[in-house]
Amino acid sequence: MNDRPAHTKLSPVASTKLSPVVQAPDSTRAQRRVALLTDVHGNLPAFIAVLADVDAQNVDAIWFLGDLVGYGAQPDECVKLAAERCDLCLAGNHDLGVLDRIDIGDFSPTAAKAALWTRENSTTETLDFLGSLSPSKIGGPIGLYHASPRDPIWEYVLSAMQAEACMDLMPDRVGAIGHSHVALRFTRSDGQVLSEQVRGGSVLDMSQGDWLVNPGSVGQPRDGDPRAAWMLVDVDSWTGEWRRVEYPIDDAAQAIVDAGLPRSLGERLYLGQ
Ligand code: ZN
Repeated sequence: MNDRPAHTKLSPVASTKLSPVVQAPDSTRAQRRVALLTDVHGNLPAFIAVLADVDAQNVDAIWFLGDLVGYGAQPDECVKLAAERCDLCLAGNHDLGVLDRIDIGDFSPTAAKAALWTRENSTTETLDFLGSLSPSKIGGPIGLYHASPRDPIWEYVLSAMQAEACMDLMPDRVGAIGHSHVALRFTRSDGQVLSEQVRGGSVLDMSQGDWLVNPGSVGQPRDGDPRAAWMLVDVDSWTGEWRRVEYPIDDAAQAIVDAGLPRSLGERLYLGQ
């Protein structure tokens, strides 16, 4: 959680350009088997591996919860792939930091370095695409937020107490978040909130109660499992499956070194931290 900010800072431009919540397109209603992906962070090998697994699962839609860039060395490639493959994309705090819509002074020094590198090394098309995204969308079967329902840009939801406050604000029974890079689920039934890290391969019945789920990160997992993470949700049967995928970490780490980004950003990929 090294890039946790002390407080939220939105530039005037951001507050006019970013509406906190917008309606999802109607097409989301017809999509049944949904792949939830988040936090690619410029890690192209991880993104490719996850999309191959998504394709093998016969999904109707891919929804991305933010942070396509930042940390990793292949922002343009990841944004191009997301534009081609994802049916819906949110903006994350790193995407907005690269665009200078939020203050990267609130990032850790390493994250800030990576954001500046990304700003200087991305194409205009990449920056334009990121600039078209919002950090949350409601109106589909699942409320989608980069960070949390009460603060879609910055809040790291890691405790049952936070999750409960978020559930109280959610218009939908089920919400999905990214940002912490930890595969998690929060469930409220009979007034009790359960919080749990979820291992890859877990399949849970989400048909009852309130749920806030985090698929875990595609490109920079921080829950001790270095494999790329994503989640498959069937919004008819309300089953949720947390999946993990091996990918060539060497390639992502080497690209970080070759780009002149901090070496630690490659090393942490092997640890899943
Ligand atoms: Zn992230």
